Amino acid sequence: MTTEKVDVLVIGAGPSGTVAASIIHQAGYSVKIVEKLKFPRFVIGESLLPRSMEALEEARFIDAIKAKGFQEKYGAKFVKGNKVCDFTFKEQHTPGWNWTWQVTRADFDKTLADTVEAMGVPVCYETTVTAIRFNGSDSVTTVEDIHGNKSEIAARFIVDGSGYGRVIPRLFNLEKNSNLQPRKALFAHTVDARRSMADEPNRITAVVHQPGTWIWIIPFSTGVTSVGFVSDPSFFNSYSGTPEQQYRALLEAEPYTRERFRDVELVFEPRILESWSATTDKFYGDGFVLTGNVTEFLDPIFSSGVTLACVSAQTAAKLVIRKLKGEAVDWEKEYMEPTMQGVNTFRSYVMAWYDGTLDKIFFSDDQRPEVKNQICSVLAGYVWDMSNPFVQHHDTALKRLARTIELTQIIKQDQ
Ligand code: FAD
Repeated sequence: MTTEKVDVLVIGAGPSGTVAASIIHQAGYSVKIVEKLKFPRFVIGESLLPRSMEALEEARFIDAIKAKGFQEKYGAKFVKGNKVCDFTFKEQHTPGWNWTWQVTRADFDKTLADTVEAMGVPVCYETTVTAIRFNGSDSVTTVEDIHGNKSEIAARFIVDGSGYGRVIPRLFNLEKNSNLQPRKALFAHTVDARRSMADEPNRITAVVHQPGTWIWIIPFSTGVTSVGFVSDPSFFNSYSGTPEQQYRALLEAEPYTRERFRDVELVFEPRILESWSATTDKFYGDGFVLTGNVTEFLDPIFSSGVTLACVSAQTAAKLVIRKLKGEAVDWEKEYMEPTMQGVNTFRSYVMAWYDGTLDKIFFSDDQRPEVKNQICSVLAGYVWDMSNPFVQHHDTALKRLARTIELTQIIKQDQ
């Protein structure tokens, strides 16, 4: 078997793998990406957050993405019946990027992978990691191509950005269940001919269909719109038939989507994804670091996945560079803790979405601009800004605010 030597082996050519590969390559180290599939490949996760732009910028990907003409995204809109709560990223507490993109991931991920390849990082497609042997922090990884040919890659460090593949957690029994309830999504891309400017293509819309069930509407610059339903898996049992029949029945059941998506042409047969939340005991070890979805993926409601993937890769890449230079790295303090800070902030918001706390806040008649701007920063992905009380006290601030809104309403009713 042939053995190739690199400084860093990156598993997976998704956003987390390519961002990490680019930053480490820029520091002068030899990097190779192995990717199981051939690109372009479908993956869901189409609505980005402004904070991801900082990582994409450091990876020098912004110009290549801009050239693709993806739909620019300026905010996020939440709808429930006739109530609307609209967040515009320009009105946020934390200084930073105030826009981003809505992307077809097949094209977006291929753009990142092609760009990093053009920089000089080989991307080895249709090649799957099947085994890893660690010897201290050095490793030898066995990979297999689609013809069954095996080879080995010796590396001084591994970045595991394998997403739902979860390569290192699976190979080394690091997997742990998430504390979030399992959920299911049914989604498709639609030819959105009845889209109007009033539908504001420059933001994601999340429609509350009923408590615990919501719909994402993510318009692309091509006139195609991604529409997906998310709920407890049992919710879908009341809809029979094929995924397409269920999907069309759901579009018809929701007043917000009924007219616009009636008999809409679908770009592909609706797809189902279930029970995506998973995590691992630790996000690093001797000779490896986990990035992106391999660390923890929560839920699609706040479009946090790609941002957490890019930011974790950005943070990890800088630590890998220091480690390769022979500097000491405190992985717990410098990687695990900040990564968990971001994940846990979003976790509080995800929980507050499903337990109805955010419902009270988003659809209250009493919106205080300062508070709204602070929450807007979280929705823009600025979940490390401790000057924001809705980040610093993410686990209590929302509940307290919802309670205050409730009490104010009671007082108003009594007057
Ligand atoms: P991926 O993008 O999954 O890339 C990992 C790559 O690793 C893949 O290309 C895979 O082929 C490769 N790989 C896997 N195993 C191996 C192996 N053994 N060897 C070699 N390569 C391997 N996020 C958002 O930001 N916005 C959204 O709107 C959003 N919506 C979502 C909706 C749903 C229903 C779900 C489930 C998720 C959503 N997400 C969203 C999350 C988003 O999909 C992920 O967070 C994001 O893709 C993670 O990027 P990544 O680079 O970590 O992994």
